[in-house]
Amino acid sequence: MAKQIQSIRGMHDILPDESGQWFWLESRARLILERYGYREIRTPIVEKTELFKRSIGEVTDIVEKEMYTFEDRNGDSLSLRPEGTASCVRAGIQHGLFHNQQQRLWYQGPMFRHERPQKGRYRQFQQIGVETFGFAGPEIEAELIALSKRLWDELGIDDVTLELNTLGTPESRRAYREVLVAFYEANRDQLDEDSLRRLDGNPLRILDSKNPQMQALNEGAPSLHDHLDDESKAHFEMLCRLLDDIGIDYRLNLRLVRGLDYYSHTVFEWTTTSLGAQGTVCAGGRYDGLVTQLGGRPTPAAGFAMGVERLLELIRVRQGEQGAYRPDAYLLLAGEAAQQAGFALAERLRGDLPALKLQVNIGGGSFKAQMKRADKSGADVALIVGDDELAAGHVTVKPLRDRDAAQQTVPYDSVRAILEARGETRDD
Ligand code: ATP
Ligand code: MG
Repeated sequence: MAKQIQSIRGMHDILPDESGQWFWLESRARLILERYGYREIRTPIVEKTELFKRSIGEVTDIVEKEMYTFEDRNGDSLSLRPEGTASCVRAGIQHGLFHNQQQRLWYQGPMFRHERPQKGRYRQFQQIGVETFGFAGPEIEAELIALSKRLWDELGIDDVTLELNTLGTPESRRAYREVLVAFYEANRDQLDEDSLRRLDGNPLRILDSKNPQMQALNEGAPSLHDHLDDESKAHFEMLCRLLDDIGIDYRLNLRLVRGLDYYSHTVFEWTTTSLGAQGTVCAGGRYDGLVTQLGGRPTPAAGFAMGVERLLELIRVRQGEQGAYRPDAYLLLAGEAAQQAGFALAERLRGDLPALKLQVNIGGGSFKAQMKRADKSGADVALIVGDDELAAGHVTVKPLRDRDAAQQTVPYDSVRAILEARGETRDD
């Protein structure tokens, strides 16, 4: 036998048993986004490497060591997208979506990061992301948070906590950055390798360190909140008030920072303790500086992205399978004549009953074998056509799940009424 080829480490197949659950989550997310007036944008999976260098920044884990970067046949440096925001901003500038306009956009698709694969952390993973442009006030951050909360409710997720922080205006942040650098300089001997590297390019990111030793040092670091100017405070207080108004709880987390220069004001994360180390299911904030950083005119912007694998895992942990695909009916064909005519009969049923999910037995088999397949398919009813039924123009309808319901043999034209009464043709 020839050697088998396996998928790439950290990149997974979504098998038919799981894809129903994906579809279930995605369709609920889409519905809620539409209810809030968001429109989908689809951008390419590959972009010029420079886009990510200029947006995410060179002194970040993603750009320094996680990107799938390659030269194409023209010698251009391209990268698989590690996230979706940069592409949205690039597309918005390129197509003039931002000038004197407000945009509420969303996207979904695979992202690629060369990280160490583990539960909840993959090299290809799926995000659903939301980006807004042209809204300067805190109402939009409140809307983003409200809509994510509504999604958790819809998905039956109740063990997530909202962590909230503000980075203030760029001026506030600059002032704070100086104080912070001075603090770390004074404690230079306690900094680990990563933090030393970040001290020059990205000192706020040190606050985010997962190293326990650094976390201890960070406990004593000066707080950004002592350096906020009035505008920063007003923006944040207004956001908190809006969240209070709609009864959304939050935890102020002063250590929550997004290290990048284009972030300002609000940052937030939805986290859970049910998933072990990979507990952040959704992260976002305001990034007013990014559009100009990528060559556009000044445009206020805010958004978030959620990790679909982590959300699905959370739902599985809590509630088991959701939305698995199953047909409504399975058509058994018993006898030679019925087997010949059955294929056309299935097409006729699909034409007459557009909402019916019908799986037809193909490949013959004994009646018993066909019943086994029908049962395994998960269908609610078996439709049985043997040679006798075929000659009479009849179909036998046999309920598979409720033992008490009797099977009935009826003329073809009555099948519809029976299935409709059983709710098999519901559009769901
Ligand atoms: P983390 O701290 O877990 O590495 P991050 O800050 O790198 O997350 P973001 O870039 O903010 O993550 O992406 C938003 C969301 O996408 C995360 O909250 C997470 O749910 C998901 N995510 C990020 N990286 C991965 C990955 N490698 N595998 C699976 N999901 C991921
Ligand atoms: Mg990461």
